[in-house]
Amino acid sequence: MKARNSEKIPEKLVRLDAGAGTAGSGRALFGLDADALAAVMTELGQPGWRGRQMAEAMYRQRVAAISEITTLAKPLRAQLESAGWMVGRPAIAQLFESVDGTERYLVETLGEARETVETVWMPEGDDGEAGDGSECESEAPAEGVSRSRATVCVSSQVGCAVNCQFCLTAKLGLQRNLTAGEIAGQVVSVFERKGVEVGRSRVNLVFMGMGEPFLNYSNFMSAVRLLVEQVGLSPQRMTVSTSGIVPGIEQFAMEPPEIRPKLAISLNAPNDKVRSEIMPINRKWPIEAVMDAVRKVRLRPRERVTFEYVLLDGVTDRPEHAAEVARLVRRTGLAAKVNLIAWNPGPGIAYAMPEPAAVERFRAVLVAAGIPAFVRRPRGRDIYAACGQLKRTVEG
Ligand code: SAH
Ligand code: SF4
Repeated sequence: MKARNSEKIPEKLVRLDAGAGTAGSGRALFGLDADALAAVMTELGQPGWRGRQMAEAMYRQRVAAISEITTLAKPLRAQLESAGWMVGRPAIAQLFESVDGTERYLVETLGEARETVETVWMPEGDDGEAGDGSECESEAPAEGVSRSRATVCVSSQVGCAVNCQFCLTAKLGLQRNLTAGEIAGQVVSVFERKGVEVGRSRVNLVFMGMGEPFLNYSNFMSAVRLLVEQVGLSPQRMTVSTSGIVPGIEQFAMEPPEIRPKLAISLNAPNDKVRSEIMPINRKWPIEAVMDAVRKVRLRPRERVTFEYVLLDGVTDRPEHAAEVARLVRRTGLAAKVNLIAWNPGPGIAYAMPEPAAVERFRAVLVAAGIPAFVRRPRGRDIYAACGQLKRTVEG
């Protein structure tokens, strides 16, 4: 296709080895909720409330080994270990720093295969989910408190089965689902590395890394529950993106607001014809079916549904497409906004990046039609950390 496709990737990568981490053999405590941790303790003949001490140590103090849980007496720690337990939080195995401050981590999962998934830290967010005025709470930091602002992009599966034609993750196919501990563990490991103070730092989570969260629904929601109830994050600072898995959206609509993240839908096309071409999943769940499911989600005050829209040169980025998207979004009757993403190139994918002018024109058409629209900044393009580029380009 066009020459813009072969944009040169800067080669100045900083590679750091983050060390061995917590991988090992044994049963992982990390990922268990309060009840399950209490049960571990009662099994060892201890009072159940000691489970809370383990939760506090793993999820708040972010210890990576049983030996560091100093609230438990030494013999009890030894007892846990000889019963085959370990903390087992997925560890950062490698990291790549981009010139724009983005960091991409290869996070190693447990088990024999030693697979890695990718997690991304974006200082100051990507202007998509953060900073667009859609936050539900007051954002003003208290006097004298300096708060760092960042977005962490989290993976939900190793690979993905959905097969969107423009996405690099699709090329991996689905290797396996991540467990709740492996999903929440990415967040805790990155928080630990970046020294995030929960409650003070302004950090958003986006479940937009590798995989389709709604095809790993129960593990994904268990991870969210851990992040809310144990780690102490607000679900209103989390956004989950789905390619439009209707049964998943319907289940999501029934989650209580105390633990339900915000919802983003990868719309990516102005109509069913184009969408089915670039996202074959659309043949199973076409746009109207997705919208019917989304309308079941009861939005919080000021909350909006996000429609993500990847701009592919000549395929989805024309002004007439923008007009069609505006009509489509208006017809849904939803409180919504559109996040525009200029397609990020990847090896072996025959699309081209849109002209910057086309992106701006597209946005202008939406805004003129009364639809809030934002352009998501590509982050870390030099290290393949931008959207859809999370492929294991460095392994082997
Ligand atoms: N599987 C989920 C979440 C991960 S993908 C989903 O598809 O929604 C996160 C976002 O990245 C989606 O909106 C997807 O459309 C977009 N994306 C995928 N590949 C991309 C690429 N090469 N360039 C830009 N955005 C891409
Ligand atoms: Fe999977 Fe999302 Fe990529 Fe589609 S865009 S293949 S759903 S990760």
